[in-house]
Amino acid sequence: MNLRFDILATSGPARRGRLFTAHGTVETPAFMPVGTRGAVKGMTAQELEAAGASVMLANLYHLTLRPGIDVIERLGGIHRFTGWRGPILTDSGGYQVFSLARLRRLDPDGVTFRSHLDGSLVRFTPESVVEAQRRLGVDFAMTLDECPPWPISEADAETSLELTTRWAELARRAWIEDGPGALFGIVQGSGYRDLRRRAVASLRALDFPAYAIGGVSVGEGTEMRRAVVEWTAPELPADKPRYLMGLGTPLDLLHAVSHGVDLFDCVLPARNARHGVLFTRRGVLRIKNARFRDDPRPVDERCSCPLCTRQSRALLHHLIRAGELTGPVLATIHNVRYYLDFMADLRECVELGTLTDFAQELTDCYADGGSPATPLAAPPRRPRAAR
Ligand SMILES: [Zn+2]
Repeated sequence: MNLRFDILATSGPARRGRLFTAHGTVETPAFMPVGTRGAVKGMTAQELEAAGASVMLANLYHLTLRPGIDVIERLGGIHRFTGWRGPILTDSGGYQVFSLARLRRLDPDGVTFRSHLDGSLVRFTPESVVEAQRRLGVDFAMTLDECPPWPISEADAETSLELTTRWAELARRAWIEDGPGALFGIVQGSGYRDLRRRAVASLRALDFPAYAIGGVSVGEGTEMRRAVVEWTAPELPADKPRYLMGLGTPLDLLHAVSHGVDLFDCVLPARNARHGVLFTRRGVLRIKNARFRDDPRPVDERCSCPLCTRQSRALLHHLIRAGELTGPVLATIHNVRYYLDFMADLRECVELGTLTDFAQELTDCYADGGSPATPLAAPPRRPRAAR
């Protein structure tokens, strides 16, 4: 399918766009909450919708092993199965094959591995991965790729990239042009600028409807992670969506949006929530901290999520300390909402041309430590976006 992507405004390299799918439109830059096994951990599809999400992510590796593509297909496809009515993107599972599966064997035509669940033998090929995503009925499908860890030598990264490039060609050929959904080509090449450039050139020659930047956040530092985005994003076709896979903190997202990236996913908001780490507009709250025991204020007075509109920091502190299931659930709903609101602010900044000011304010806040919240590795304070 020809993926329709309208660019509504630009501000330097940053873009404010709209992506059209059979399951609705996506305002970009957009954050896609991660529902690895068909649901965001701790949230229903209804809650995700109410939080303002427009796209959900799921993972082909996990869904293949359990409950199985056949089951989901028989039940009417991934939208009906999950109850999520908006667009769905599935990651091809390449990353999971290399990080979770046991005894994998790579060959030019695919990868054979043992399931981390029951040890059964599974084979993924570029063609089978395309076919499985087609059967699920996803809106955005990803090619099978090899995601090398960091550090890696340039020679090994090159060998890996050659395999990924071959797989991208096979996947592109297997993808049925006139069917629903769009196939993303994934740029690999690790932390080597020349390899990233070559990866972009080979993928551009295959003319994918959209492109992803993969192989980031695999152990490299912030500086290299950002360099990869700065090298890669401007080389990708200007009229196609660009998706940065698996990132990151609000500061990472802001940096990438400033360099022209349109789509994001990350487990950070949900994972941090489960550990009692809350993103707020005044900093990061570690809600388990004793000083929140008697705190009657909402987690974030400017947030309109269910937690912030009705309950106090004291309640969340109590629930999470007591190990009550509802604690992480409320915290997850809040953090996901924070990320979605943050993206809405970024979209507005691109429209108004105020992204640079916003970035400066965020960076300044990060530097000052973000009282009253305890600072951590994520950006502490988010100022009001220019209105
Ligand atoms: Zn909230």
